[in-house]
Amino acid sequence: MKTEPFVAATAIADPDDYAHLMIPGPCRLDPRDAEVLGRPVRPHYGAGWVASFRAVLADLSALLGAPHVYLMPGSGSAGLDAALFNLFEPGQSVVVADTGYFGRRLIDMARVHGLHVRVVPCAPGLPVDLERVAEALPGCHGVILTLVETATGVRHPVERIAALAREHGALTLVDAVAAAGGERIDLQGAGIDAIATASQKGLGGAPGLAVVALGENGHRAVHARATRPPTWFYDLARWDAAALESPDWEPTPVTMPTGLVLALAGSLARMRETGFDAWLAERAALARLCRDGLRTLGLDVIEPDGCAASLVVVALSPHADEIRERLARDDGIMIAGGLGPFEENAFRVGLVGAGGTRPMVELLLERIAAARR
Ligand SMILES: *Cc1c(COP(=O)(O)O)cnc(C)c1O
Repeated sequence: MKTEPFVAATAIADPDDYAHLMIPGPCRLDPRDAEVLGRPVRPHYGAGWVASFRAVLADLSALLGAPHVYLMPGSGSAGLDAALFNLFEPGQSVVVADTGYFGRRLIDMARVHGLHVRVVPCAPGLPVDLERVAEALPGCHGVILTLVETATGVRHPVERIAALAREHGALTLVDAVAAAGGERIDLQGAGIDAIATASQKGLGGAPGLAVVALGENGHRAVHARATRPPTWFYDLARWDAAALESPDWEPTPVTMPTGLVLALAGSLARMRETGFDAWLAERAALARLCRDGLRTLGLDVIEPDGCAASLVVVALSPHADEIRERLARDDGIMIAGGLGPFEENAFRVGLVGAGGTRPMVELLLERIAAARR
């Protein structure tokens, strides 16, 4: 067997090393946050660490309108698992909207957690139908919904769904992985009980951190369970207990990926300095610029009335794959292919992290125009 020397293998430029990531996550890091990742590893305890950790939780709490925030090692799906474990008990019934690729994942996850799922179908590219959710709700313990479905670029009306769920005494869990840091979310104000998201998309961080946020009602529900969830790691009561036991030294029950937390802290601090509202308004304006530009180039863009997402734009074109390949080859720009109901003849642009800027959108539009000539 021929063995390649280790050095030679790592020295080869990786063909997946794009200059510009414009996929809907993971995002390209701001160079200041990337530099933080290169520093010596810090332990997950001590007064200095606690101050940084608390700052991240406070920023997430302000951004999401959430009184209770948990940061855990893991991806967005880990956050969803955590929320599912803690909010619901096996044998309960939930309504899940089939919004597309990630809606399907929620259906699958709910089943893995032993829940009976009432699936509400969605028309591709349109927001979930509130009447169909209302019809499915009686007798259910919860509603699980994607805020932004990354396969379609649609922002679903979770606030109205949460109000409906509340009328039926059901809990609302929202998948905000492709929404946090891009969409206005007022968890407590909207009566949403829990959301899960991740560091590597709209929050502008590196991959590896899951975020779970609870409203007061969701937090009460987590602590009012008859039995603890069948998991040690994801039991949020354990995370609450650790934060109470050692608030000034080691506020988590496990080792944290401290570098990832500190890189995320940088990204969130810049959003806070811009002002969270101003930041979100800029995301919406950037998505509008991107959609208008693509339409001007003759592409079909998914843009339901009042429900177009800020962090992901889906365009339809019979030349989608060709455009995507040309951008990768000629410009080092990586955009994503179609997914779910728009798997064929579509591409997706992610406006997250360092790829989510006006100059990047202008460059993208110019290069797509060139690719189509
Ligand atoms: C990316 C994404 C996920 C999965 O997140 P991971 O971090 O890969 O686990 C889930 N839901 C939505 C809407 C997403 O966009």
